Amino acid sequence: MTVHAKPSAQLLDVLSARLGEPHVITDPGQMAGYLVESRNLYRGTALAVVRPGSTGEVAFTVGECAKAGVAIVPQGGNTGLVGGGVPFGGLVLSLARLDRIREIDPVNATMTAEAGCILQNVRAAAGETNLLFPLWLPSEGSCRIGGNLATNAGGANVLRYGNTRDLVLGLEVVLADGRVWNGLKGLRKDNSGYDLKNLFVGSEGTLGIITAAVLKLLPKPHVKATAFVGCASARRALELFARLRQSDDDTLTAFEYMPDFALYMVLKHGRGTVRPLVGEHASYALIELSSPDAKADLQGRLETVLGEAIEAGLVEDATIGASETQNQALWRLRETLSEVQGLEGGSIKHDVSVPVSRVADFIEEAEAACATAMPGVRPCAFGHVGDGNIHFNISQPLGMDKAAFLAQWPTFNRLVHDIVASMNGSISAEHGIGLIKRDELLHYKDPVALDLMRTLKRALDPANILNPGKVLALDEDAPPALPSPE
Ligand code: FAD
Ligand code: ZN
Repeated sequence: MTVHAKPSAQLLDVLSARLGEPHVITDPGQMAGYLVESRNLYRGTALAVVRPGSTGEVAFTVGECAKAGVAIVPQGGNTGLVGGGVPFGGLVLSLARLDRIREIDPVNATMTAEAGCILQNVRAAAGETNLLFPLWLPSEGSCRIGGNLATNAGGANVLRYGNTRDLVLGLEVVLADGRVWNGLKGLRKDNSGYDLKNLFVGSEGTLGIITAAVLKLLPKPHVKATAFVGCASARRALELFARLRQSDDDTLTAFEYMPDFALYMVLKHGRGTVRPLVGEHASYALIELSSPDAKADLQGRLETVLGEAIEAGLVEDATIGASETQNQALWRLRETLSEVQGLEGGSIKHDVSVPVSRVADFIEEAEAACATAMPGVRPCAFGHVGDGNIHFNISQPLGMDKAAFLAQWPTFNRLVHDIVASMNGSISAEHGIGLIKRDELLHYKDPVALDLMRTLKRALDPANILNPGKVLALDEDAPPALPSPE
């Protein structure tokens, strides 16, 4: 068992002397926001929150914690959805003050940004040089680039540009012993040994602390066209996706799916939302085409392909935004979906992926299994189906006690994840493992893969001080994985 000593007053004094007293926070009121996560599923404890202002100060902090055997939980914007940033003792290390964009190289099409840069600011800075940093999440105003890298975040643009992993060329990382690995290279080709950066991307703070990154930039789109379509089923919507992939792959930027229950919730609870189509349909898709070519007629293109899809019986009805304002109104229907689900009572959530060819099978099988397991449940399978990524959420039956419903989370996990596994899918597509899926990972991940993961963790963090108990539990005193909803 690894012993995580409590930060002694002496350690906090040493850190205060180097970081400055205001950046070693022990006041419970100021610490409160760092101890909970965005869904309020876990409430943690920490003896202090430290806010270093430079890579050197992060390295100093980690080095001192390594000497004292004190656990560290790195935090960016604390918008993660799997409990990965919640501390259970030790220190929270906030990267928020490392928020400088160190360099933009327009010819190399790269930006070197510190881990604490807010995603929205990174995107704005790229835009000012007529370039695009394509990662986009609804949490862009709060999440930070270090957190995006640590979770290998996805979002709606993955279809065209890939995950965060595909958008990074180099990293600077503070290791568990306080050394700094400077891998800040902006190279498209570099076969000089193992690809170390990809060890840290998606490692959720368990292998090292990312302090800066060289990000890939792309040509900024100058025209966009957005459509909202109604289909008779998820299967028809997926057939439409396959057709668009064939005909318009070079401009297809997003293909987001939602069922009628999702649109019902959005229209009922989402402020300023308007029904996009006259009639009701079983399934809907939001489609975006974009191009850096200002002369591209993407609206015309959508009219043609969707017209053909209506004739072929894949689409029942469609609307195409006639202006940027209308496009944004269509996107709002998708973006508000995350927040409105909570207003329909308890929601049990899964973030899974299957091969794109199995998405419709998965949705049909999982919805049927849930209805059998608990009559009256209201499944809401939505998301980035073009990547095979389904947010398979289940709203409680009307009138049922919320706590009693949420207590069934493990039962629904087994049901849904078994179907995912039978289709050779993944129990985490884009949110990560953190705490909430740690035990599920043990159940579903290949044992050899788990063994390799433990080997890497022990090699890079032998004292288990970096975000202990997350992703993998190496300690018998690791925090419990199951949330205790309040
Ligand atoms: P945090 O929550 O602070 O941390 C996340 C994890 O990374 C933790 O384990 C933490 O310890 C670790 N970590 C943070 N910073 C570092 C660092 N510098 N070095 C090492 N480890 C670190 N996610 C998606 O993938 N797609 C979506 O579409 C999406 N939509 C969202 C919508 C909403 C409304 C919300 C609230 C969340 C959404 N998320 C989504 C989840 C979340 O925004 C992402 O996981 C995001 O990448 C987390 O960034 P963060 O800075 O908030 O990280
Ligand atoms: Zn998502």
